[in-house]
Amino acid sequence: MSGLFSLSPLLIVLLGCLAMPALRAEPIAPLIELTQSDVENLGPQVLLLADDSGQLSPFDILQPEYAGEWTKHRAHSISRGYDDTPFWIQFRLDAAQSIHKEWHLVLSNALLDYVDVYQVFGNSGPRLIYRSGLQRPSQSRTEDHRFFIIPVEVYGPTTYLMRIETSPSALVPLHAYPSDDFWSPLLKADIGNWLFYGVLLAMVLYNGFLYTTVRDVSYLFYVLFISGFGVLQLSLDGYMAQYLWPPDLIYHYEYNFWITLATVIFASFFVIHFLNLRNTSRAHLWALYGMIALQCVAAVLLVTIDLDWFARLYTPTIIVFMLLAVSAGIRAWRVGFIAAKFFVLAWVLFAVGNSVFILGRLLGIEAPLPPNLASKLGSFAEAMLLSFALAYRIRLLRDEQDRQRMRVEAQSQFLAQISHEIRTPLNGVLGMTEVLSRTRLDDEQRGYVDTIQGSGSSLLALINDILDYSKIEAGKMAFRREPVDVHRLVQQQVKLFLSQAEHKSLALTGHIDPAVPAWVMLDAQHVRQVLSNLVSNGIKYTDLGSVKLTLSVDPKAPRLLEFRVEDTGIGISEVDQKNLFNLYSDVDPGRQRKAGGTGLGLAISRELVALMGGTLTVSSVPNQGSCFTVKLPFLQARQRREETRLVDEQPLKGLRVLVAEDNMVNQRVIEGLLEKLGHQVVLASHGGEALEARQSEDFECDVLLMDCEMPHMDGYAATEAIRSYEKRHNLLRLPIVALTAHALEDVRRRCIESGMDDFLTKPINTRHLERILAQFVRER
Ligand code: ADP
Repeated sequence: MSGLFSLSPLLIVLLGCLAMPALRAEPIAPLIELTQSDVENLGPQVLLLADDSGQLSPFDILQPEYAGEWTKHRAHSISRGYDDTPFWIQFRLDAAQSIHKEWHLVLSNALLDYVDVYQVFGNSGPRLIYRSGLQRPSQSRTEDHRFFIIPVEVYGPTTYLMRIETSPSALVPLHAYPSDDFWSPLLKADIGNWLFYGVLLAMVLYNGFLYTTVRDVSYLFYVLFISGFGVLQLSLDGYMAQYLWPPDLIYHYEYNFWITLATVIFASFFVIHFLNLRNTSRAHLWALYGMIALQCVAAVLLVTIDLDWFARLYTPTIIVFMLLAVSAGIRAWRVGFIAAKFFVLAWVLFAVGNSVFILGRLLGIEAPLPPNLASKLGSFAEAMLLSFALAYRIRLLRDEQDRQRMRVEAQSQFLAQISHEIRTPLNGVLGMTEVLSRTRLDDEQRGYVDTIQGSGSSLLALINDILDYSKIEAGKMAFRREPVDVHRLVQQQVKLFLSQAEHKSLALTGHIDPAVPAWVMLDAQHVRQVLSNLVSNGIKYTDLGSVKLTLSVDPKAPRLLEFRVEDTGIGISEVDQKNLFNLYSDVDPGRQRKAGGTGLGLAISRELVALMGGTLTVSSVPNQGSCFTVKLPFLQARQRREETRLVDEQPLKGLRVLVAEDNMVNQRVIEGLLEKLGHQVVLASHGGEALEARQSEDFECDVLLMDCEMPHMDGYAATEAIRSYEKRHNLLRLPIVALTAHALEDVRRRCIESGMDDFLTKPINTRHLERILAQFVRER
């Protein structure tokens, strides 16, 4: 937009060149009769003379040898095209028929460098009556206005000579006003202009504010582009030189080109981001990058070549920019970006407004609107429509995000449901295998059982991974920071994988830097998950040598814990390292299959670490080994009461466990497991039965394992009823542990809210079961 606007004078000049053939030789200026009170446009009635040497005096140009050099001008506003040689204007006024003798000549272009006006007095010849211009001190003005206002007294026929020296492509509207009548139209034009600037400023502030909240760069570029455009307008209208420029510094026309260059760059970025050209039209994207590069080249030319040549060369690029913006808008619209229709409309209105301006001001073609007004209305419409388009676009993006969120949510719910359905039978398989493995078996049978257990565990790990990933994607992964003995956590990790490592004859070691505080605030569950994945990978992908887990404080950032898992295994090539953390990373699928991986572990680990505010990185040399580094921010914590002490103690035996479970297979599994652990089981097939059992006088169970979803009365309702019964009868609180195939945080929260004490997921892990039983029963 700014382009066309700065462009306006440039285009005017361009088209002005077309109008040039209208000039023809005419020695004497026609007499312009000033009538009663109307303003007189002198433009079409003057004679022009180019002063190629720049040396002619007013006396010279009145000599007979120059009589044939004068040419008649016909257009509304005086223009000399790209030519920046000084020129003379000659006109003759006669106010004999008018009651007004005092007149004002108004040159409505604020950016004329030098303006000299002479009045020819009969025999004594021309005498200087006015001398001013942008390059002269502002005190030279007779009226305090951005335009050049020359008071004259006209009685009978009087000849005036005006010498103008200025930058190329200047347009010089020249009017004669009776007495002080010029003030009212000039004031009206000023008020109109300031209204226009006011709207631009409001748009800039409004969208600037939106940028600070929405953080979409389209807003930023809109603000920069409209600001640039506004500044350009202020400059072209002469306000910059009059009000905003230090009076002792000279304002140059050339500045308009600098502002235009910057504005076209901002406008190009605006078009690129607003229309999302990266996805909607690559051709337009590159063309606009080319346009931006061209502005940089133009900047170099601006300081190196003549201004008139620069204007000639630069004008077409603005026209190309306009065409690019409109065609990019149409393209984006056609590929389904609805907000682009407002964008296209905005540029078209701008072009129409400025065409009226150009046609009216330059070619004198009658337009339904005054040309200046049409131009500003076009620009105003563009600023408003683009702002509207931005708002509309953001709404569309938000709607799309909402839809996307709902899709992800539905997907994650679906996965949660599916995982629940798979976990239930898997509980049967794993649980019964566990029970079976604790019976007397010969070696062959034990081998079969181990295979079933291994496969079942892999399937369970896969389901957990998928569920984790979908939770992360849906933004539902919950994190809990708690005081953790991180030294112990590392030791436990090593212990956990020791037998696996021994199985492959690998040395698995743990190293802890004593500078690391023992107790820190961490999400222990997720840190364990990440470390387990890294250590198990290390063992999986190492055939010879060692795997080392190290804990230290990052030497460069003392607020970061650094966990390092180093192995001497097969390593990862540099190319593969780049894709390593992608979902189903395609690192040698053969080896993955051989090692029994899913390709999800590292992707999940990186997401988890990132969500905890840290980083997970890798360095590796093929055939030498890999090193995975996790850096996590931490806070030191106060030591917490030893809670896991019980794990190491002798397991409990001989408990009476009430189990509320409706599924027959699950009943058999839990019953079998508990009996193998040396406990006694009382079964209830739904929540109602569990409640009844709790209410019976001879109730003497130590703990209740409660399934959540059961017919008649579910686990939540039963727990609530049990808790209120205990309260009413002042009974000791029975430990209730949820047993559910749902591994979701929501379900966990619901269990705790209904009054349960902890949570075990199916398939039941025997070690977890033992630990929880021990913990609650001993706490009583
Ligand atoms: P997987 O369950 O297959 O191990 P991961 O996401 O954990 O899935 O790992 C992705 C791939 O990265 C693996 O298939 C393996 O090729 C490679 N990889 C991971 N850790 C190591 C390691 N320590 N050494 C060599 N390659 C590894």
